[in-house]
Amino acid sequence: MGNESASPPGARSVLLALPSGFCAGVSRAVETVELALARYGAPVYVRRQIVHNRQVVERLRRAGAVFVAEVDEVPSGAVLVLSAHGVAPGVRELAAERGLRAIDATCPLVTKVHREARRYAELGYDILLIGDPAHDEVIGTAGVAPGRTHIVDSLEAARVVEVPDPGRLVWLAQTTLTVDETERVAAELRKRFPALLDPPSDDICYAAQNRQAGAKHLAGASDLVLVVGSANSHNSGRLVDVARACGTPAHLVDDPAAIEDGWLYGAAVVGVTAGASAPAESIEAVIAELAARGYRDVRTVEVAREGQHFSLPRELAETRP
Ligand code: SF4
Repeated sequence: MGNESASPPGARSVLLALPSGFCAGVSRAVETVELALARYGAPVYVRRQIVHNRQVVERLRRAGAVFVAEVDEVPSGAVLVLSAHGVAPGVRELAAERGLRAIDATCPLVTKVHREARRYAELGYDILLIGDPAHDEVIGTAGVAPGRTHIVDSLEAARVVEVPDPGRLVWLAQTTLTVDETERVAAELRKRFPALLDPPSDDICYAAQNRQAGAKHLAGASDLVLVVGSANSHNSGRLVDVARACGTPAHLVDDPAAIEDGWLYGAAVVGVTAGASAPAESIEAVIAELAARGYRDVRTVEVAREGQHFSLPRELAETRP
């Protein structure tokens, strides 16, 4: 793997993993809000954070987006964008009842997991959903088949979860989990439920997997790994976990000014990556901050090529300039 550039590193250097930052699902969701504002004018309401990034949310707020926690906070008849993380069907029904013009920015890869959950529930299976029960995505996926979904958030939970029929079971996963930890939890479930079916296709998305591969590479090639992303970004947090699991110190950086001198002490090479919701400006700001602290030599390592692109929600398909 990797295409590290040939130039020799200076005494202190930055190694930037590619791909880093926005994935296709986040780009589509952010563009959805921007185009909705252009087409319908402000305010455009957005249920929950469109993507889990502070800078993105602030920028859209300044442009006229109004972020709400629930649909009943939106005045009837208004435009409402549903976030990239997906929603339970009941949320869409409530939006329709209130006469809202709902535009669904759910990432197509989350929608794919929803389809899997629906299909297995209709076939009479119970679903063991590996993920964080407090995360918007898991709340939405669990809401597709609420009576049949059991959330498993750890190895410990895998050891105690109870199901009505161990012979009709499938496991599915939150899209941004770490591949290694998810496989450990699934293996524990398989030990207890030998008839357990695997997901029909990989639920952990390409973007999470590529950024995790980047974090692993950085951990092996750097003295410190900095992950650009906000505190509530699940996939960014997992990149920190991946680097630390390799034995390399790692920190999440939302604000470059928060980089502590102590983290850099003795670090000749600082690895930088960014979660799928971190915009390019945030990555550039961290690189600029590191340059100001003496890390001026920036190399890149490309662990994967990404050409994914998702079409816009149909309400806006003709709006793209
Ligand atoms: Fe979609 Fe994956 Fe990006 Fe989430 S991280 S928005 S699932 S592509």
